[in-house]
Amino acid sequence: MTNGLRHLQPLPGDADTGVGLAARLRPRFAQPIILVDPDDPVIGGPACLVPVCTRLAVIFGKCSAHHQRWIDDGRPDDIETWAAAAPANRRWLQQPAKCTIDGCRRSRREHRLCHSHAHRWHQQNRPDLAAWIAAGGGPPLPARAGCRFPDCGLEAEGEAGLCVHHRNRWVRADRPPMQSWLLGCATFGQDRFDLRPLPTPMRHEIAYAIQCRVDERRTITRPHSIRRLLRAMPGAGVTSLLDRSPEAWTAFLGFSTERGHIERRFLLDAIGYLRDVVEGVGWEAEFPRDVWLLRRIGFPGRDAQLRFTGIAPVWLRELTKRWARWRLSTGIAVATVAADVRAITLFAASFPALRRGPEAFTRQMVEVHLAHLVDRFPNAKSRTGQLTSLAGLLRAARQHRWQPRLSPDVDVFAEDYPRLPAAAPRALPETVMAQLERPDNLARFADPHGRLLARILMNTGLRVGDGAKLRLDCIVRDGQGAPYLRYTNHKMRREAFVPIDTAMAEAITAQQQAMIDEYDDPAVLLPRRTRNPEGKVAFSTATFRGQLREWLRVCDIRDEHARPVRVTPHQWRHTFGTRLINNEVPQETVRRLLDHTSHAMTAHYARLSDATIRQQWEQARKVNIAGEQLPADTGPLAEAIWMKNNLARAKMALPNGYCTLPLQQKCEFANACLTCPVFVTTADFLPQHRGQLEQTQALIARADSNGQHRLAEMNRTVEKNLLAIIDGLTTGCCGGGKSCACTTAGAPDAG
Ligand code: SF4
Ligand SMILES: [Zn+2]
Ligand SMILES: [Zn+2]
Ligand SMILES: [Zn+2]
Ligand SMILES: [Zn+2]
Repeated sequence: MTNGLRHLQPLPGDADTGVGLAARLRPRFAQPIILVDPDDPVIGGPACLVPVCTRLAVIFGKCSAHHQRWIDDGRPDDIETWAAAAPANRRWLQQPAKCTIDGCRRSRREHRLCHSHAHRWHQQNRPDLAAWIAAGGGPPLPARAGCRFPDCGLEAEGEAGLCVHHRNRWVRADRPPMQSWLLGCATFGQDRFDLRPLPTPMRHEIAYAIQCRVDERRTITRPHSIRRLLRAMPGAGVTSLLDRSPEAWTAFLGFSTERGHIERRFLLDAIGYLRDVVEGVGWEAEFPRDVWLLRRIGFPGRDAQLRFTGIAPVWLRELTKRWARWRLSTGIAVATVAADVRAITLFAASFPALRRGPEAFTRQMVEVHLAHLVDRFPNAKSRTGQLTSLAGLLRAARQHRWQPRLSPDVDVFAEDYPRLPAAAPRALPETVMAQLERPDNLARFADPHGRLLARILMNTGLRVGDGAKLRLDCIVRDGQGAPYLRYTNHKMRREAFVPIDTAMAEAITAQQQAMIDEYDDPAVLLPRRTRNPEGKVAFSTATFRGQLREWLRVCDIRDEHARPVRVTPHQWRHTFGTRLINNEVPQETVRRLLDHTSHAMTAHYARLSDATIRQQWEQARKVNIAGEQLPADTGPLAEAIWMKNNLARAKMALPNGYCTLPLQQKCEFANACLTCPVFVTTADFLPQHRGQLEQTQALIARADSNGQHRLAEMNRTVEKNLLAIIDGLTTGCCGGGKSCACTTAGAPDAG
């Protein structure tokens, strides 16, 4: 803001709206002209490519003035060279010329003098001008107040309080209201929202909407994108946005699906922000209403609602609202609660008798409803959903004693639910997976964010929601440098790790770099593309599902019977698990890798046996091929490291130990583990080691006697390593050939 602007007073006639809107405006937004800070992610933006220009680029990388100049210059091809030479836009803030007499601060008119000095010179019969000026032009003129024009250094002359230069300009502009004109001049040639033509309180309402958008940091709102709207609004003949319905505004402004989308959205948001102020936000204000605007109770989404209006019996509506509030507060997804409300609405609509009160609700109604549902929802799963909602409401109402007048006989029983057909295996056939994983097919995934997400899901079995929300710094490495993906298991509300191979890690690292280059301080690995100027909001799974469908169509993916396939992201999770099981990865490890929840008992069992196995691994003495003992893995990664080594062992089919390499597709030395520096083994494998030692020694003896020296030599290395391994695993240990926790130095000698 220029210094001059700060001196300006608010425009006269600024009545408040009666809801204290003016008081909510920060100083920057309270001005009738809101200046744009180019660095603001919402109202600012990239600069004009002319280096001396400070305006925002709005058309082909240029401000509109420089774009016009480029056209006038014959659209030169070498735009960089043209831009480097292009002058800045004309500004109005140059100091007007002043009278040549030293010490005089009045506007220059004739003979390089101000009016008064010129008049005096004429009266003195026009002596030699240069000498007269040099002599100071006689006694100084009386000092006057400064010109009101922002940053003007001259003295005011006349009633308007302006210097002659600026007064002439004001007169040429048809003497507009002074404050407004001054403000316009002070900000001329800068990016600004000019709200001066708007009546109050509409001016405050629009300013408040701009301020809200800036605070939300979601929707880019540059002045040029709503300029037409701001010009058209005074013509409506009303003074507040609330004087017309959104539909009436839309009709008045001539918006349609093709025209004015950005402006219409801005107007609807502005009305929404205003109504939030007028009607209040938070549970206190929203709960009593029959339509809840979710944004007012802290959920994302601009217009998303929960509607209870279809539940005619007042007591049932109140009960449902109470239940919905409780469910939302415990973290149940909005979509789930919305489905519940719809189910109760349907139920209520079928039984007008419910209006008589909770006593009218009978078990018979539940049975009639069951019959309705069979008609209405042939799909057993949808029917189950409807029943689950009704049962949930009844259960909560009893549990919390919300409605004592409900008869205890009314309930939904286990037998009421439809029998679900046995689920078909949900893993995808390998013929389909092979097509999906082909690089040329992956390359056809249009959006690189979606493509990477698809790869991550196929490689790690993550839930699509967890994958889409990966944070930017989602790769961690263990002591050996092997990469792991760190993610939040949103369902279980905990942080988890899954080992990834190096190709996957490289692709993710490249994406991280691209995001760091694109955003100042990005928070997520895969930011959504729209309404996300700062890269803080994650990719939407709905968008991804749409992209996935399109990709399958484009690649024409077919199953083994040449039928087009339908693939859901969750199927990749099952495929991942199935592949591991087929690779003979222990079930406990698979469950852990998937960070899976199952039935309480199974989960309990899994946790138990998993813990047992891990404990064994942790306590086991681990040695490399030189027989050196390895430090224990500790910290949050320990479990993931164990899973990775276990997984690698299954993948590589190592009969005698673990591979600590980063996960990889395959190892080129697959059967050379006993000479490999990353091989790790435990006392569990002592019988195998002893057996192999015997075989190796026999082989060496045979090779020696046959004169096969190279073969003998190679096997001597293996023999040496085996001896070291066995020694490392048994020294200071009972060496019973089974895993043991006996690692203290003073333990009994090997038996
Ligand atoms: S040779 Fe080394 S890298 Fe290859 S599987 Fe064996 S331990 Fe792993
Ligand atoms: Zn420019
Ligand atoms: Zn003068
Ligand atoms: Zn002036
Ligand atoms: Zn599953």
